[in-house]
Amino acid sequence: MVFQMPELPELEIIAIRLTENFGDKVIQNVAVYNHLVIHGIEALEFEAGIIGKKLNSVKADGKFLLFNLSGGVKIVVNPMLAGRFWVYNAGRAPGKTDIFSLQMESTVLWYRDRKQMSRVYLIRGNDFSDVAGFEGRGPSPLDSELTLKEFTLRLKRRRGQIKNVLRNQSFVKGIGNAYADEILLYAGIHPFRRRSTLSEVEVESLYQSMKKVLAKYLDLMTQRELSEFSSEKRNFLMIHGKGGGVCPLCGGRISEVRANRFKTNYCQTCQI
Ligand SMILES: [Zn+2]
Repeated sequence: MVFQMPELPELEIIAIRLTENFGDKVIQNVAVYNHLVIHGIEALEFEAGIIGKKLNSVKADGKFLLFNLSGGVKIVVNPMLAGRFWVYNAGRAPGKTDIFSLQMESTVLWYRDRKQMSRVYLIRGNDFSDVAGFEGRGPSPLDSELTLKEFTLRLKRRRGQIKNVLRNQSFVKGIGNAYADEILLYAGIHPFRRRSTLSEVEVESLYQSMKKVLAKYLDLMTQRELSEFSSEKRNFLMIHGKGGGVCPLCGGRISEVRANRFKTNYCQTCQI
């Protein structure tokens, strides 16, 4: 199975689904199956800190999910590449990729990570200091306060290739490898262009594309069930992961470049 790291649009909808399914329910049972993914707290302490609490809501924050429990406690999940949620009726036996489960009434929410790269924390209040990569991030790209003017100002302080800037969480939070490719296709900007070479018109186009592409994918996924995200159904992307395929905008061939473990797809005709 090829895993695709969930980014802002997926996590926003996953948070909505989790809240719909489990909001206001009391967590009657908690079990940790892999303590290596739980950070900064012993498994027993993690379980004791959650049991009996009510799950008020789940919110997405960039590439993190925050489970807001009663008593000001939060479970913070950074799913990385392969952290996924599954819902089953009570009675299922744990498998070797399961990390933890939360039983609420007759259903159980399972968190599974086949790569075991994800990170889970239990925090009190708003003290995120122990959560790796949480503090010091930029605004959400969909935040209404991130105006074109503010975006342009923030962008001016950045160096290097534009794709790397877009997926740098200290610039904006929630965009990763896949949506950066999608945004750059619509902006007509080559992913390896240096930020310093972008014209004012291109910066505006990048800003508009970022807002439009993320809003479009959020809308597209609104009807999806939790299990569809968990089973890697992400066939709707226009260019990312489509190397050798046909560009949806011009009909040309989609190029692919691999660097480290990251794949970049772009169109040589549409993106200059
Ligand atoms: Zn094209």
